[in-house]
Amino acid sequence: TALLDIRGLKAEIDGRQILNGLDLTVNKGEIHAIMGPNGAGKSTLSYVLSGKPGYEITGGEVSFNGEDLLAMDPDERAAQGLFLAFQYPLEIPGVATLTFLRTALNAQRKKRGEDELSSPDVLKRVRDLAKQLSIEPEMLKRPLNVGFSGGEKKRNETLQMALLEPKLCVLDETDSGLDIDALRVVADGVNRLRAADRSMIVITHYQRLLDYIVPDVVHVLSAGRIVKTGGKELALELEATGYAQYQSEAA
Ligand code: ADP
Ligand code: MG
Ligand code: MG
Repeated sequence: TALLDIRGLKAEIDGRQILNGLDLTVNKGEIHAIMGPNGAGKSTLSYVLSGKPGYEITGGEVSFNGEDLLAMDPDERAAQGLFLAFQYPLEIPGVATLTFLRTALNAQRKKRGEDELSSPDVLKRVRDLAKQLSIEPEMLKRPLNVGFSGGEKKRNETLQMALLEPKLCVLDETDSGLDIDALRVVADGVNRLRAADRSMIVITHYQRLLDYIVPDVVHVLSAGRIVKTGGKELALELEATGYAQYQSEAA
């Protein structure tokens, strides 16, 4: 059954239309890759799904778990199980990583009408997950992402994902600028979180991440629409041919 169903989505920013009637259906438990040339609208799609202010929806529908996603505020989207990982994770100098994780978890629980967890309860959950992900407990005391290496930021993001137990994870070019070790960290984290009731959308310009995270479905996004859909072999084909044919088709 469809977890995410996007129909004819059109969106603008600053009066410029970026998404031009985008259709995408992601079923429960599936991993989809979205590839495409620079400027195609990949990040715009992830921002629109997150509810980031400044984007105007000018057409189409998005249903998430059978509900109207576009009618929800960003916190409500997170509470319903949507998790977005962006290319440049937020750095918060004054806030310890553990404090940030506790705040995020309790905000989600509160929005769902669940009791907040006590600090010791959160600490226990976070410590258990950190251990599974080979994260040093010391890192939890450091200010969020400040001075973290690329790999540490990605580990931390995986920890956040594991703690919040999302139904849909959207990773936007989470691989760009990472060395091969950090890339493996991202892939390990994502693969560890694969589950029958969890779907993922992995947005990437390059094929190499998909050697480690093997998608069920691959899409090409060009000029604000999905212009081709295939199996995992489509990623390899794109690596060989590039995006030029899709750019001219879209133009
Ligand atoms: P991708 O992630 O696929 O590289 P983006 O979604 O970041 O593409 O950008 C899609 C297009 O939207 C690009 O042409 C970009 O220049 C344009 N764009 C992004 N932000 C703005 C903005 N604030 N105002 C106008 N155009 C924008
Ligand atoms: Mg880009
Ligand atoms: Mg982008």
